Order: sequence, then C-alpha cells, then structure tokens
Amino acid sequence: MEVGFNAMPVGVSWANLADQKIGYMNRMFTEIFGYVMGDFVDIADWIERTYPFVEDRDLAWKSWGAYFSAPDLFEFSIEPMELRILCKNGEIKTILHSGVILPETGWALATFVDITERKRNELFLQAAERAARENKAIYSLLLDHSPDMIIISSFDNTSRFVSPAVTQITGFTPAEYLEIGALGSIHPEDLKGAQDGIENLKNGAVREVYSFQMLRKGGSYCWVEALAIGYSDPVTGKPAGYIATVRDVSEQRKREDALASEYRELSEVAALDELTGIANRRTFNQTLEREALRHMRSNRDVSVLLLDVDYFKQFNDLYGHIPGDECLKQIATVLQRVLRRDPDLAARFGGEEFILLLPMTHLSGAEVIARKILQAIMDLAIPHADSPYGVVTISIGVACWPPGIVLDQKLLLEQADQALYRAKDGGRNTYRLHECGPPAA
Ligand code: GH3
Ligand code: MG
Ligand code: MG
Repeated sequence: MEVGFNAMPVGVSWANLADQKIGYMNRMFTEIFGYVMGDFVDIADWIERTYPFVEDRDLAWKSWGAYFSAPDLFEFSIEPMELRILCKNGEIKTILHSGVILPETGWALATFVDITERKRNELFLQAAERAARENKAIYSLLLDHSPDMIIISSFDNTSRFVSPAVTQITGFTPAEYLEIGALGSIHPEDLKGAQDGIENLKNGAVREVYSFQMLRKGGSYCWVEALAIGYSDPVTGKPAGYIATVRDVSEQRKREDALASEYRELSEVAALDELTGIANRRTFNQTLEREALRHMRSNRDVSVLLLDVDYFKQFNDLYGHIPGDECLKQIATVLQRVLRRDPDLAARFGGEEFILLLPMTHLSGAEVIARKILQAIMDLAIPHADSPYGVVTISIGVACWPPGIVLDQKLLLEQADQALYRAKDGGRNTYRLHECGPPAA
C-alpha cells in the first residue's frame, strides 16, 4: 500500500485518529513540503507550525474538527480547500487540501496538491484582466470624452477608428467620417503634406505634426493640427499604422492671423514716413547699417544722395503749410519713380530733406540719378513765385564710399551734407559731388 501511495502525484499523509499522531508521509508529500516523518508530534503540531495564515488554520480546524463533533459517522470527507502551507525551506505554497476520515480503520487520510504555480498564473491572469479592464475603461474615457478627435488607422486602412469628437469638429458622425476616408477630409491644397506625413510614418518616423484644413459637413473647411504617432505590428515589429489626435485650431489661427497683420501694420507704420508713405529716417539708418556690413564683402561703391527743397520756408509762407505738405508728397513720389533698382532706397530724412541710398553705385552712376531727379522735380512744375526758378526745385549733395574701406556711416552722411551745402552755395537747383572715400588723414 505504501508503494502505491509513493507513486501518487499528490502528497499523502495519514494520522492516527486515537492520538492524532502522523503515521505516514508519502514521497510526494516530502517533495512538496520538504518535511519528513518525525518532524511533527501530531496533527495539532502540524497545523500550528505550518499554517502561517490564521484564516487557513481556522478553516482546517473547522473541517477536521467537524469529525470530532460527529464521531459516529462511518466515513467522513473533508471537502477540498485552498490553504497556504509553510514549507521546510521557508517557502509558502498554495495547496489544494482534502481528506477522508475512516473511523473503522482508525485513520484519517489527507491529500495535498501543490497548486502554487497554477495559483500564481491565476493571480497573474486576474491582475492582467483587471489591468486590461481598467485600461479599457481609461481608453474609452479618453477616446469618448477627449475634446481632440482621435483617429486610429492602420496603413492598409483595414482597421480605422475615429472618436466622437469628430462631430464637434467637423459635424460628421464617426461613421460618416470613416466613409469619407482619411485623405478625403483633407483640403486638396494640404493633401500632399498629409500624404508625405503618412509616408514618413510608414518609413518608421515616430511622430509627425501637421496643420491642414479639414472638411466640415456642409463643405466648409476648418484649420486643424494633427499629431500622429506611428505604431508597429507586435509580431513583425514593422510600422503598421498611426494614432492621431486632431485639434481644431481655427480660433487660434484667426487670432494668430489677426496678430500677424496687426504686427505687420505696426511695423510698417514704424518703418514708413507718415506724410509721404516712403521709408522714414529710422528705416534708412537700419538699411545703411545692413549695407555697411554687406559692403565689407563687396567690391562696389555705395552712394548716398542728400536732397533739400530750395526756398521751402518761403513756399510755406507764400502758399501755406498744407500745399507745402502736398509738395513734399509729390517729391517723394518722384524719388520713388526715379529709383528703379531693388536695393535702392528713398527715405524722408526729416522736414524737407530726403535721402537716397544707392548700393553698388559709383559716383558717376549717382551723378546720373541726381541729374534725373533735378529734372523730374522741375518737370513737376509746382509754382513757386518766391524762387528765382519760378517752380519748386531741390539741391542735392552726392557722396560715394569706395570698396575695400570699412564704411563709416556718419562720415558718409557728413560728406553728403557738405556736398549739399556746396550745391546750395552754387545757386540751388543743382548737385555737387563729394570726392570718394574717407578724407586723407
Ligand atoms: P534752402 O533753400 O536754403 O533749403 O531754404 P529753405 O527755406 O528750404 O530752408 P530752411 O531750413 O530755412 O527751411 C526749411 C523749411 O521747410 C522750414 C519749414 O517751413 C519747411 N518744412 C520743413 N518740414 C516741413 C513739413 O513737413 N511740411 C511743410 N509744409 N513744411 C516743412
Ligand atoms: Mg533744410
Ligand atoms: Mg530747404
């Protein structure tokens, strides 16, 4: 009989009913718990020493104790129960324990099946299930309630999902949106960029951000910003699709556009002369500054023409300030018309003075421009009874800075001013040139 018990794949022990001494442990029992015969005095000793949990101990006593309260039963089964038993090596094992009391033989037989591994798996499964349930709850909370529209799509379009926020943003129901297709909702102007973004994700890009106009029910479009994150197939590891959050940025866009145009207007105002609409002195100075830097790397001259209206005080006195202003506007228009090259700049320097910056222009080129301007102002034929010329005229001082020498902005302007004075001295309605370059030391 003992040989038979030893071969059993469950732990078996029996105890004497009379004194409750443990009379047998099979090989499996020892294998499971590490204990051998003689380790315990009796059942009570076994239970006290190997049941680390009070509730298990209570359960065992209750089950086995039931026999003692009904000793006249012929045969008495102990229903299987799950217990945790402390093994000899300190490990706690989960055991499925059952037994039978055979009063006639005077023995109680107990069986022990080690279900630790199964239990661990079971707990793991339960925890995994719980986590999955919780995650699912979190996901659906996020998906259903996020104000951003969430799109999940595989590259082959076999599985696609869009969250309910699609309705707030576009007016389409999720089903309608899916019907239109991922690219069908994108404005034709923005399609190429979106396709490129998806292509990048297919090629392993992790993240793509893209703004585009998205179709709304009814045919209008709204600006949205999409952040797409690529995901991979868990088996092959290859990029398989993307999850995109799409946010309505129409309002933000509107605000940004308004700010940008406000800023543009403001900076234009700051850059232009209020009366004539051409560049102001500040813009001239900034441009000259840039030109000075550029000039260092260039092998060309820079010319400056300083212009001053002749007898303008008299003009104002004679005709009034408003016709005076009108006259300045006309002169500004002429200056802009004469300057044809892109880098040239005409600015109002202040009062009735104007200044021209002619990059990459040598003295003789500047002289040609000066002559043209004198003629064009005369051609305006604005009457000026107090001028010996009978019409409004101007005087011009021309200065030119040669290449190869660091441009001294202040000195260049002084030279133009000196030349202007000489033009005034020379009878007005004329120009004078200042010799090139810095004065000899
Ligand atoms: P000159 O030929 O020597 O340049 O004599 P001028 O009278 O033009 O020179 P002056 O510097 O003595 O006077 C400049 C006058 O230009 C003073 C002012 O009456 C007039 N002026 C300056 N700025 C403005 C302006 O913005 N509008 C008007 N209407 N007149 C201006
Ligand atoms: Mg003046
Ligand atoms: Mg003047």
